[in-house]
Amino acid sequence: MVILIFLIFVYNFCMSTQTIYFSFVDCEDVDRTAILNEVEEILKVDIKEKETFKNIDFAYNKKRNQYSASKILVFAKKFVPQDADVLFLVVDKDLYEEGYNYIFGQSAGNVCIVSIYRFKPCTKIDTEKEKFLLKERTVKTIIHELGHSFGLPHCSNPSCVMFFSNWVGDTDRKSKCFCEKCEKKLENYK
Ligand SMILES: [Zn+2]
Ligand SMILES: [Zn+2]
Repeated sequence: MVILIFLIFVYNFCMSTQTIYFSFVDCEDVDRTAILNEVEEILKVDIKEKETFKNIDFAYNKKRNQYSASKILVFAKKFVPQDADVLFLVVDKDLYEEGYNYIFGQSAGNVCIVSIYRFKPCTKIDTEKEKFLLKERTVKTIIHELGHSFGLPHCSNPSCVMFFSNWVGDTDRKSKCFCEKCEKKLENYK
């Protein structure tokens, strides 16, 4: 009996998939289902949605006319559900971090954020091509930030999802997947 319980414990431990909660804050223009399904499929994680806060006005910096990503992430820590490995926020506001003109996303352990603000090919997303581009960029950045949360650093391979995007062209060029090296590192961290 004791051995059986032990084996069940070991099995559950080995088979446990990570649970990522997503919260879309002030973000209307994206196809949530398409994005979340793709992230779930690529990373083989469990994805849930959660309402957190209504807006990110508290992080607004008037001088820069941008929103502080780290302020938002500190605040978001209070909203991480007990069963979550990561709480991931998706916003539609221009984010910044000290030392950068803007950022696409950021990871701080069990909280991450991505902004779709600079991923829109035009102000009004109408055509299928525009929707596709917005989705691709968002998915790549989500996977990149989750890669950081799982312990991965940046990668020098320009087609690896862990490559640092200096501008959106870098994001378009890279793939949604980890290169072989990063994939191996990831296995060791899990
Ligand atoms: Zn990064
Ligand atoms: Zn890589």
